[in-house]
Order: sequence, then structure tokens, then C-alpha cells
Amino acid sequence: MKATDTFSSPLQLLEKYAQAELPTRWGDFAILVFREKLTEVEHLALVRGEVRGVENVVTRLHSECLTSEVLGSLRCDCKAQLDWAMDYIAQRKLGVLIYLRQEGRGIGLGNKIKAYALQQQSGLDTVDANLHLGFPDDMRSYEMAVEILRYLGVVSVALITNNPKKLAGLKEGGIHIGQRISSPIEFTSANTEYLKTKRDKSGHLIQVDEEMDKILDVLPSSKAS
Ligand SMILES: [Zn+2]
Repeated sequence: MKATDTFSSPLQLLEKYAQAELPTRWGDFAILVFREKLTEVEHLALVRGEVRGVENVVTRLHSECLTSEVLGSLRCDCKAQLDWAMDYIAQRKLGVLIYLRQEGRGIGLGNKIKAYALQQQSGLDTVDANLHLGFPDDMRSYEMAVEILRYLGVVSVALITNNPKKLAGLKEGGIHIGQRISSPIEFTSANTEYLKTKRDKSGHLIQVDEEMDKILDVLPSSKAS
């Protein structure tokens, strides 16, 4: 897309590595690949329409989940959330999806599967399994997303999320969040325990919105449900 050729805010932690148009089942996006200078880990931005200089750009920060997105695992709801966000952005013809390569809440694929095994063998939940393996509950970081959003030149975002840490991460990075859009939850027999843990131990805002007010610096009337 022509618009994305005009991006200009300087990158520090990342270099922009590649860009092309990407038709998807939901609609046309520009795909931009960024590479972390230190680690060479690649992150993606899928951009729909001209977002530079625009307020309340519908935005999703999505962390990679190979097991659900590629293999159809029902242990989590990541693919459902990714699909919903792609569709939501495509319908509005304007938005950004940042796809961060931090599998398994940042512990990596192998360790995520080790945590699954622990959950199966010992009945631990997601959080306790990660702790048992010597990792924090959640190692994801959003500083790369902040840098990408700056590069894209969005003025403020309407963030699709139920995760207070994403809101806090963007806000700490100086990205203004004008609005939050709840990401719908799909409960299945395989993911209900996982989602309950997400809500009870990781503070995800499944059915609960009050905590948003502490993080969002916006008028209640501008919140979406
Ligand atoms: Zn997942």
C-alpha cells in the first residue's frame, strides 16, 4: 500500500527489514517485517489503510502461538482472538495488527510444551507450571510494539485487548490509548481452566472491566465494550 511507504519515525531497537502487500481471507493488508537488532527476532505489522496521523487506530498486539494458530490446539484461545482481530480490522478498513514473536508468553515453544506436560502430569495451572520451570508467569514485553507504533505514526490507538499488561506496556512507552475494545472469549471444554487462570491469576479482564479505568486515561464515554 502506498501509504506505508511514507513511514518515517526513527527505529532504535528494530530495523525495518521487508514490506509487501498481503491479501488475506479477511482483506488486503500491508505486511511489514521488523528485525530486532540485538537478537534478529522478526516481528510483523499488518497494516490496513493509511494510519499515519490518525487517532484511535484500531490496534491489536498479538503474541505468536504456533500450537493454536498453526496446529489448531484447543488449549488456548489465541487463534480465535487473532482471527477476530483480523476480521474486525479488515471490516473497518483501517487498523494495525502487530504480531510479536514471543511464543508461550515469551518462554518459547519448547518451554511452553514442557509447561503443558507439567500441567498434565501434576495438575498445575498455566501460571504455576511456568513458575515451576523457573520462569515468571508472563515474560512478554511490548517495547517492540511501542517502537513499531511510533514508526507507523499513529496518534493514538483503540486497543483490542483484555490484558491490562498490554495497556500498561503501551502507556509506559508513551502510546496514547484512546479506547479499549474487548476481545471476545470463546470458552471450550479444553480451554476453560486456562481462561479461568488467565482471569484469576494474570488479571485478564474477562467479564471484568473496572480495572481498565485505573489504566486508561480516557472518559468513560469513550470506552467500547
Ligand atoms: Zn495460545
